[in-house]
Amino acid sequence: MIIDGKKEAQLLRDEIKKEINLIKVKKNKVPSLTVILIGDFAPSLIYVKNKEKKAKEVGINSEVIKYPKNTSEQEILKKIRELNDNDTVSGILVQLPLPPQIKKEKIINTISPLKDVDGFHPINVGNLSSGYAATIPCTPLGCLLLIKKTEPNLSGKHAVIIGRSNLNGKPMAQLLLKENCTVTIVHSKTKNLKTECLKADILVAAVGVPNLVKSDWVKKDSIVIDVGINKVGEKIVGDVEFDTVKDKVKAITPVPGGVGPMTIACLLKNTLECFKGR
Ligand code: NAP
Repeated sequence: MIIDGKKEAQLLRDEIKKEINLIKVKKNKVPSLTVILIGDFAPSLIYVKNKEKKAKEVGINSEVIKYPKNTSEQEILKKIRELNDNDTVSGILVQLPLPPQIKKEKIINTISPLKDVDGFHPINVGNLSSGYAATIPCTPLGCLLLIKKTEPNLSGKHAVIIGRSNLNGKPMAQLLLKENCTVTIVHSKTKNLKTECLKADILVAAVGVPNLVKSDWVKKDSIVIDVGINKVGEKIVGDVEFDTVKDKVKAITPVPGGVGPMTIACLLKNTLECFKGR
């Protein structure tokens, strides 16, 4: 089975839209998302445009504030504090990567955890790992929703996650632990990567190495989630060798059209949750 991320993302956006319409009728208010974009890094321009478009489609008020790439850290921090204090703003997102004069850590720590739609603030990270209510980073949240569509009960499954980034690998591990999986995280220093991957009932690849995972790395009838987005020539490919792996496993996400669309849908979900006050 090939997991259709585009279809699942559309279903999620339909649900969000429905809920926002009801809120609008009842309260005469809608959620709003402010995106700060610094510089003109081409992929960021595309991501932000896409986020703005999808937000508007579901009825979220979306504003993009653009700054030139030489803007000072102080100016961005001042704007974030202003947005934190603005009651009409439900969610704040600062598009990464940042220019070198602006420290990611400072930006993440300054966004109010209650408006942190990316789920990167240490309070949200800590709450997630403690099993408390938290805003969950969009990509791992999207992965979990796709996994659960295929296999609703994950208890006792062995999940292997390739990659240990704050963005993907670590929150993914926390989410799967919460689902009662036995979780292994592997990374660039892991010995016998293939042997570890072969144990997986659920394999999540969040690496950034094209076609790293081959068919002899995956267990028959496992679920494979490919987070990777890699440009090879003019083609976008994942971290999993899709053509050879797809016939061996129970379910797999394609790249493109798998995890990517779910990431944006989950950003909209997080914005709605922040608006509702979780
Ligand atoms: P990252 O911060 O670069 O982390 C990559 C992780 O993979 C690190 O933990 C690294 O290990 C590990 N790694 C690298 N090479 C490896 C190898 N040969 N064998 C085993 N592990 C290896 O990347 P990221 O931000 O998590 O992103 C990962 C991929 O997901 C990228 O392709 C990115 O474009 C994509 N992505 C997709 C979405 C989406 O919406 N679909 C969203 C975000 C990111 P060390 O820690 O030891 O260095």
